[in-house]
Amino acid sequence: MNTGSKPLGGRAAVVTGSTSGIGLGVADALAAAGADVMLNGFGDADLVAGIRDDLAARHHVRVLHSSADMARAREVAALVRDAESAFGRVDILVNNAGVQHIASIAEFPDDQWDRIIAINLSASFHAIKAVLAGMQARGAGRIVNIASVHGHVASPFKGAYVAAKHGVIGLTKTVALEVATTGITCNAICPGFVRTPMIEGQLAELARAHGMSQAEVVREVVLASQPNKRFVGVTEIGQLVVFLCSPAAASITGASLPIDGAWLAR
Ligand code: NAD
Repeated sequence: MNTGSKPLGGRAAVVTGSTSGIGLGVADALAAAGADVMLNGFGDADLVAGIRDDLAARHHVRVLHSSADMARAREVAALVRDAESAFGRVDILVNNAGVQHIASIAEFPDDQWDRIIAINLSASFHAIKAVLAGMQARGAGRIVNIASVHGHVASPFKGAYVAAKHGVIGLTKTVALEVATTGITCNAICPGFVRTPMIEGQLAELARAHGMSQAEVVREVVLASQPNKRFVGVTEIGQLVVFLCSPAAASITGASLPIDGAWLAR
């Protein structure tokens, strides 16, 4: 365990879906703040090992990786158990793993609905259930759920994603109330568009659907709903997670915090 003088030195974190995009940015920020990190997610084995070794070397913390599938309840619980046995504790849980599928409700494949609800919503329930006993025994803990602006508002053709993200915000509030006197906080972060591999896939689809170039789609379709007209940076989300894990954020719980360039202000 790292015991340095950084703000999160001596803490251990699990970040689901952290081999790419926002999760990787959050893992990087937590490691930079001194936390040992259990990475999770899919990807080429050499690439993932490179990410793990790079974080450990740059930040002088322990970094491990688990390929547990967040679509499977038992693997979610095993991820938490593995982190607890490797680090001796899990102080910080960031539920970030997420997937997307775009189709109208009439054409939405049942298996995609089940997959999105399992990874984007049920995995958070299973992971929270698994970390709570240890956090309660220590009288401290931080749970951060990466929801979305789509936890507050809808967009057409994202039915499962919107339902799951609204569910994440409801789960966040319930957990916060249940643990309110225990030193544990539970919050949701609601990003607008962040340029990650998840969004790159959508840009290609949108460009095809609108008969536009990807640059035109970014300007006229994607960032049309984001008033500040820029993508949210993964480091901005990482820093917000670090703040929520700090003592200064002890009274912030049950919140769903937009980081969205004023998308939700409309
Ligand atoms: P991404 O596709 O770049 O990364 C997703 C990560 O989840 C990867 O590490 C992937 O391996 C992992 N993953 C996917 N399925 C998994 C599974 N079954 N088990 C374990 N890991 C799995 O996506 P991203 O854009 O970084 O999104 C991360 C989170 O942020 C998601 O919950 C997403 O809904 C949310 N979000 C993204 C945006 C955005 O604009 N990118 C906006 C709001 C919210």
